[in-house]
Amino acid sequence: MDLFDLSGRVAVVTGGNGGIGLGMARGLARAGAAVAVVGRNPEKSRDAVSDLGELAFAIEADVTRGPDVEAMVAQVAARTGRIDILVNNAGTNIRKRPEELDESEWRTVLDTNLTSAFLCSRACHPHMQSAGGGKILNNGSMMSIFGAPWSPAYAASKGGMVQLTKALATAWAADGIQVNCFLPGWIDTDLTRRARREVPELHDRVLARTPAGRWGDIDEFQGIAVFLASRASDFVTGAVITVDGGFSVSG
Ligand code: NDP
Repeated sequence: MDLFDLSGRVAVVTGGNGGIGLGMARGLARAGAAVAVVGRNPEKSRDAVSDLGELAFAIEADVTRGPDVEAMVAQVAARTGRIDILVNNAGTNIRKRPEELDESEWRTVLDTNLTSAFLCSRACHPHMQSAGGGKILNNGSMMSIFGAPWSPAYAASKGGMVQLTKALATAWAADGIQVNCFLPGWIDTDLTRRARREVPELHDRVLARTPAGRWGDIDEFQGIAVFLASRASDFVTGAVITVDGGFSVSG
């Protein structure tokens, strides 16, 4: 038995059309899973699907919206007959100090990063339950642990992601569903390229603080994706795993 084989499995990856989500989708596809790439931008999703091979397909959805999420999950289930793996990865940030952040900005970040994970998990649960099990992977952040003056909404959403993980893990363990959270360090993506423009000293700070001495690459998320989505992690649930080149253990 290959512990890491995902042949015959169906994975939903929100934000799978770019950045860390695409890295994770690559790992899942290479392990044999059919990957549903969920995003808003159809061109990015088309490119991702061609990168991921013949079992992959794209679904356009805004994961902050309950009806979009329900329709997305229904489409995946109608097309494949099952949903085994959900990666709650879609995310965004609005970098402002708390006194400058308005209510709609706060809600945008919370809805994109945290409410979406609740909505997608809830919508996938019946499919996993009826199949006798499933895997949910939640994308946190170093901001699940640390704070920063320019990240009140982002840090709140990513701290919430850890606690949502623990709540879902305890609620659904008896259904054979494992729910885990991984915390990326600083990874080179569109999101952090924007951050580097907005926070001038960020690049040097990341290099100085990361023991690995570099930014992470999206393909370094293939391994954690396959581990947490496969039988290899069947007794791992409610865990919080850093993928950060040592950032969180460095003083
Ligand atoms: P990207 O900007 O490359 O990826 C964000 C993804 O989220 C895009 O694919 C985007 O797709 C999707 N997305 C955003 N909003 C929505 C929405 N409302 N509905 C559907 N899809 C949406 O950045 P990253 O890869 O860096 O970020 C991915 C995740 O990783 C986020 O949760 C982020 O917080 C987290 N993370 C990133 C770190 C890093 O250093 N890069 C560090 C820690 C955590 P589309 O454009 O089609 O909407």
